Amino acid sequence: MAIKTAEEYREGLKKMKPNVYVGGRCIKRDDPILAPCINTIAYTFETAADPQFRDLVVTTSHLTGEKINRFASVNTSVDDLLKKQEMVRTLCHQVGGCIQRCMATDTINAIGVVSKEIDDAKGTEYHKRFLEFLKYYQKNDLVGSTTQSDVKGDRSKRPHQQVDPDLYLRVLERRKDGIVVRGAKNHITMGPYVHEHLVITTRTLTKEESDWAIAFAIPADADGVKNITRVTSPRPRIELKAPYNQYGVAESVVVFDNVFVPWERVFMCGEWEFAGRLALTFADFHRHSYCGCKPAITDIIMGTTALVAEYNGVGNAPHIRDEVTELMIIAELVYAAGIAASTKAHPTSSGIYEPASIYSNCGRYLAGTNIYHEYDVLTSVAGGLPSTMPFEQEWLNPETKAYLDKYIMRNPQIPPEKQHRLFRFISDFSCSAIGGWAQYAGVHGGGSPIMEKIGIRSQYDLEIKKNITKYLAGIKE
Ligand SMILES: Cc1cc2nc3c(=O)[nH]c(=O)nc-3n(C[C@H](O)[C@H](O)[C@H](O)COP(=O)(O)OP(=O)(O)OC[C@H]3O[C@@H](n4cnc5c(N)ncnc54)[C@H](O)[C@@H]3O)c2cc1C
Repeated sequence: MAIKTAEEYREGLKKMKPNVYVGGRCIKRDDPILAPCINTIAYTFETAADPQFRDLVVTTSHLTGEKINRFASVNTSVDDLLKKQEMVRTLCHQVGGCIQRCMATDTINAIGVVSKEIDDAKGTEYHKRFLEFLKYYQKNDLVGSTTQSDVKGDRSKRPHQQVDPDLYLRVLERRKDGIVVRGAKNHITMGPYVHEHLVITTRTLTKEESDWAIAFAIPADADGVKNITRVTSPRPRIELKAPYNQYGVAESVVVFDNVFVPWERVFMCGEWEFAGRLALTFADFHRHSYCGCKPAITDIIMGTTALVAEYNGVGNAPHIRDEVTELMIIAELVYAAGIAASTKAHPTSSGIYEPASIYSNCGRYLAGTNIYHEYDVLTSVAGGLPSTMPFEQEWLNPETKAYLDKYIMRNPQIPPEKQHRLFRFISDFSCSAIGGWAQYAGVHGGGSPIMEKIGIRSQYDLEIKKNITKYLAGIKE
């Protein structure tokens, strides 16, 4: 069985070379500042051993027949896509936010699809290399990042038009044994606690941009790689411990300062015609995952809104019930879009099933454009306390505790500690650094809403719709 324990994952990180920069220091991966973030990924290993989740999280490798973690698998059926979506929703509930590891799942799927298409068209051997890499990745139950978003410089200019060509990651040198790359990628979730950076293209490219058309895998501590990181986690608790406060997230600017990548880890190099296909194939897989994670976030917002209304004694107020119902509709429509994308998925030449893009884009769009509305509902029902309540220390201090217990009371059936716990959770979840992070992630992670609109419009057959109108109106061509 190629499944690691959470402990083995943590131990493995300790052996990596220190190249994570945070708070003015170059830190090792067992630095306490990373602990909440690492807990999130460790949870994906814990659930593989947990009878409650094992059936969702463990699957079988189509390459080796061994049991593997679903996060390290590729989807070779509709059922695989449905299970991934369900797994993502379920695990996001448990950590109270982004489970993160699906990024790499979606990236290996995208590379699997497109490397085969390049080989089919050009007689290259990227897919063969990729399958060897995938075997290694699965056997060692590795964690990867999606290193896609180039820093991009002036948004109105193409890669080859930028003042500095390094604003998109590019090949500097092609050698007998591999390539040398230079540039940087932005916003890379899990940067400091992955084993491998899985690097793919951001956009369509033109013929003169073939040096920017690259995809590869590189150990996150390879020579020349720097993970310049921002960590976001909830306020630590002293006594009022809660599951939510154990987990966090980090993003890195991943710098590639003349990094050597051996050929066996290169999955695209110069095939500019496939750059857009790779970028969009990842986006489709990842927007499909969003149809699992975003409903989970809406579930949390919905449950929290309903619970705080109940604690406040206004659980049956018609306007609140109405707003909570809206949250139900958003959550289930986004999830339904993911189910539709799964059931209408098609097999690609690699054997990997690709979700139906229209539906995953519609689901992701609906989620992205509703995220602030969802927080708005929670904020309005919660009242102002999550933003003003004194710290936990004041609740612990015998001089002030009795006051805080007496004056937090609402529904007298609910004891003060529960009231404190709920309002502290709302404060940490929505009125905090990680609350702000989740809102930005809800808009931009997996591609901003404008990108989904472009994705939908570019493949939608509007002529068919016009023809329906012509038929109904009796217009004959
Ligand atoms: C929390 C979080 C986690 C993320 N994790 C990852 C990750 O793990 N890996 C990864 O690769 N990426 C990741 N991303 C990146 C994410 O995909 C991008 O944020 C998203 O694609 C938008 O790119 P950008 O942030 O560079 O914004 P910009 O490109 O600056 O876009 C901002 C806005 O500018 C406008 N705009 C941009 N370009 C043009 C143009 N050419 N013409 C007209 N208008 C334009 C659009 O209105 C757009 O919405 C993450 C993002 C967030 C917020």
